[in-house]
Amino acid sequence: MLKVTHRKVNMSLLQKLQSAAKTAKSNGSVREDEYFYYPTRDAAGNAQVTIRFLPGFNEDDLPFAKMYKHGFKNNGKWLIENCPTTIGQECPICSANSELWETNVESNKTLARERKRKIEYYSWIMVINDPKNPEHNGKIYKFKYGSTIFDIIASKLEPEFDDEQPINVFDLEEGANFRFKIRKVDGQTKYDKSTFDNESSLTEEQIETFFAHVKEQQSVSSHIAEENFKSVEDLQKRLNIVLGTSQSGGKSKPNKSDEDEELFEPLEEKPSNKSKSKSSQKSDELDDVLSDLFDDDIPF
Ligand SMILES: [Zn+2]
Repeated sequence: MLKVTHRKVNMSLLQKLQSAAKTAKSNGSVREDEYFYYPTRDAAGNAQVTIRFLPGFNEDDLPFAKMYKHGFKNNGKWLIENCPTTIGQECPICSANSELWETNVESNKTLARERKRKIEYYSWIMVINDPKNPEHNGKIYKFKYGSTIFDIIASKLEPEFDDEQPINVFDLEEGANFRFKIRKVDGQTKYDKSTFDNESSLTEEQIETFFAHVKEQQSVSSHIAEENFKSVEDLQKRLNIVLGTSQSGGKSKPNKSDEDEELFEPLEEKPSNKSKSKSSQKSDELDDVLSDLFDDDIPF
């Protein structure tokens, strides 16, 4: 049996999470074309697969990284940016939101809610069973998820009730498989029916696959490396463009190609859209996808 005990995550995991943003290491940049696993949904927008959350590839890695992002639309323009508060730095978008909030005007507060930072998490996973795409089974991918799924993980790491045993779901031998269930309800994508199975070990073959990846794979914390965040000036510029305001008074003219890049960035992270050309996307389809992405209850 392979030795995996050093990869156990102790119960201070949640505390570590709270300070993870501040201690983010700058250890490598992220390629634009990185693949994040996401199951293929049926016509109704539903899917069900079994995946396994994995430990970090390096001994001192957390098994997840946490990122704050802004994603909202104004006058047909999307702002999609990493929020520098993730790494403890100033964010002009958050500052603008605070100003709106503090006016105490209900319409401003609604805007602030729409534009607020949203959380996403990154982990490595192994696909255990993807019935629609069995070629993924046994393979390791990155996975992006939101607070709904993180809360399900947290409830296993630190159960609310005494009669439940804590399970480190990231452990190779003593973790648990995750039934990832996607439902489309009233036009909204929901993940709340996802559950963990009982504690189980990966097979020896699956554990060997994990260790075979150790050398080549980066830490998920590389997503929150400093170079992945724009400067305050650049974020302010982008915010001015999207809001149609300019500090110099006049209307800002967006750079067309730059805008398109921003607009399509999240689509390229979705495997199902990988093969589509940018120009083939209709803007209403795009709006659907982007609204979905920045829905509060999303896995990524
Ligand atoms: Zn922010």
